[in-house]
Amino acid sequence: MNPKILIVEDNAQNRLLMVDILTVHGYEIIEAKDGLEGIQFAKLHKPDLILLDMQMPVMDGLEAARLLKADPETRSIKILAITSFAMKGDRERILAAGCDEYMAKPIDTRDLPVVVQRLLGLEASHGS
Ligand code: MN
Repeated sequence: MNPKILIVEDNAQNRLLMVDILTVHGYEIIEAKDGLEGIQFAKLHKPDLILLDMQMPVMDGLEAARLLKADPETRSIKILAITSFAMKGDRERILAAGCDEYMAKPIDTRDLPVVVQRLLGLEASHGS
């Protein structure tokens, strides 16, 4: 079975971009449009990885990450934070909230699958 990835992002265009990239790589994708829906879908679908936008209405990514990591049901799910702010101290705040890794926007379409694969513990094969 292909790994399942939950994409939590309020911007439909960004969401579509990430869905497109990861679908091509064979992942099963679930989409949520804010942090609250993200938490609900994480519990419902038990994804292997969550891509979590930091700036969202209803519930932002930092709060969603804290809640996901505080809940025994969801705490083992890896979180890749997606952020458009990159000020001093943001990285620390994001990691302190429980995110495993973070990527800055705009999303690098070549980097994303590499980081996702690493977080899922899937090493790229080199043909040997
Ligand atoms: Mn956003």
